Amino acid sequence: MYRISELKLNLKEDQSIIPQKISKKFGRDNIVVTDYNIIRESIDARDKEHIKRVYTVDFSVNADISSKASKLNITEAPDNHYKFVPFGTQNMKNRPIIAGFGPCGMFAALILSEMGYKPLILERGNRMEERVSDVQAFWQEGLLNEESNVQFGEGGAGTFSDGKLTTQIKDYRIHKVVQELIGAGANEEISYKQKPHIGTDVLRRVVVNIRKKILENGGEIRFASKLTDIRETDGAVEAVEINGKEWIPTENLILAIGHSARDTFRMLNQKGLFMSQKPFSIGVRIEHLQRMIDEAQYGGTETGLGAADYKLSYRCPNGRGVYTFCMCPGGEVIVASSQTGGVVTNGMSYHARDSKYANSALLVDVRTEDFGSEHPLAGVAFQEKYERKAFLEGGSCYKAPKASWKEFNEESVQGNKVRACLPDFAVEAILEAMPHLGKKLKGFDAPDSVLTAVETRSSSPVRIVRDELLESNFKGIYPAGEGAGYAGGITSAAVDGIKIAEKIAAKYRPIQEKQ
Ligand code: FAD
Repeated sequence: MYRISELKLNLKEDQSIIPQKISKKFGRDNIVVTDYNIIRESIDARDKEHIKRVYTVDFSVNADISSKASKLNITEAPDNHYKFVPFGTQNMKNRPIIAGFGPCGMFAALILSEMGYKPLILERGNRMEERVSDVQAFWQEGLLNEESNVQFGEGGAGTFSDGKLTTQIKDYRIHKVVQELIGAGANEEISYKQKPHIGTDVLRRVVVNIRKKILENGGEIRFASKLTDIRETDGAVEAVEINGKEWIPTENLILAIGHSARDTFRMLNQKGLFMSQKPFSIGVRIEHLQRMIDEAQYGGTETGLGAADYKLSYRCPNGRGVYTFCMCPGGEVIVASSQTGGVVTNGMSYHARDSKYANSALLVDVRTEDFGSEHPLAGVAFQEKYERKAFLEGGSCYKAPKASWKEFNEESVQGNKVRACLPDFAVEAILEAMPHLGKKLKGFDAPDSVLTAVETRSSSPVRIVRDELLESNFKGIYPAGEGAGYAGGITSAAVDGIKIAEKIAAKYRPIQEKQ
């Protein structure tokens, strides 16, 4: 197949004319496109009067075009198909165990099960069906289940999310992640949209289908099963404890526990796993009318381009960075607590992204020197402090404190409740940044923009140290994904899970069935 880039369609042109557009490039040579596959679609909205969709397309034709290809900016299409690593040679005594069934644990489990390693997955939260009820009970009645909530349970932290798949990383394994998501029910669009998203409604179904595939391939998943202890001999993992009562032997443990498993972090720290502090961010969720964002980005609301997004940043003169993160077009602001007496916010949307509102995190850098202690888990304590404040300021019933930008700016009673949930440096940075961000995106600093506190969990405040073989200082323990500090978001966490699975596969041959 060949690959062509920069193929432009105006908004009235349908994707189905892509083959014709490609053929036309060859003038009178009568080249017919026999097959094609969209690899990337992006929007060029720099000229609001002439917005274009820009495509990269892989295609086959009815003739050899190699001689003309380079002149037309056409290259040979790379083969993106994922290939399993060759098996290792060591014998595996016990099946590998994966703690956590978020994107990282799920993709580690998928690869290991596809390769015949029959992994055992431990997930502290409930399976999807029950988890959805747990989360509804929390949002509607304020009943928090500390084990099964927006952060914990089947599918991990991203299940009640926008399901954005955008990532900063470049890795060939992304193709495998996307193809598996499509195979499990996500829309094909995610393979080529510049900013792909799934939406919480579709993602919930996708996760359940991936679970089924892992089970069909010989994996086992235990829900409501928390990793509570580890046993090691001579610096190598030997067994893990579930729910404080049952021990299971293993020589390979993948820690895909996410960044909210604070009790597990503390247990691992006490056990002597090397950890280090990691900078993160704190802030609020900011909400606007989606109509206003569409106007600002596309110059109108009926463009057919869907709900518009944005990404903004500003550096304060004192060096603090202020930026928007995890923008959810057509979404809603949610409370995403996992700990009693703490409130943390986030954003979620459905596949249709058709709510009237747009929200995103408005974050300020938190540096390790802000933590006030050298302890590796000081960043966790820092997060907890501000989440407790948000719980109290919201009336101690898991309602997040909110105020308009005007109220925040003018220090009204409501505004001060939101300010109280943030360290002083973050309040100052937001006050400083907002007018500048308003210049970058018209209306961003409108007086009625709503600020909800507190956003603390955009990334992990701790890193579990791993070596070049991706193992911790305990042999056979593989810290992975967002919680361990090696990923930021659904896609990169999934890719990290695959990398770990590959390391284990490259070392061991699959367990042989007993005759
Ligand atoms: P997690 O998804 O956190 O999964 C960890 C799992 O481990 C959890 O299920 C947890 O229950 C389990 N666990 C923890 N401790 C234990 C234990 N001791 N024993 C057994 N199991 C344990 N990212 C995006 O890329 N796009 C988005 O649109 C997006 N939106 C988000 C919206 C919300 C509301 C939230 C909360 C997050 C969002 N994120 C988004 C971030 C994304 O969800 C995470 O980056 C990603 O889920 C990290 O994957 P992970 O597998 O490393 O960890």
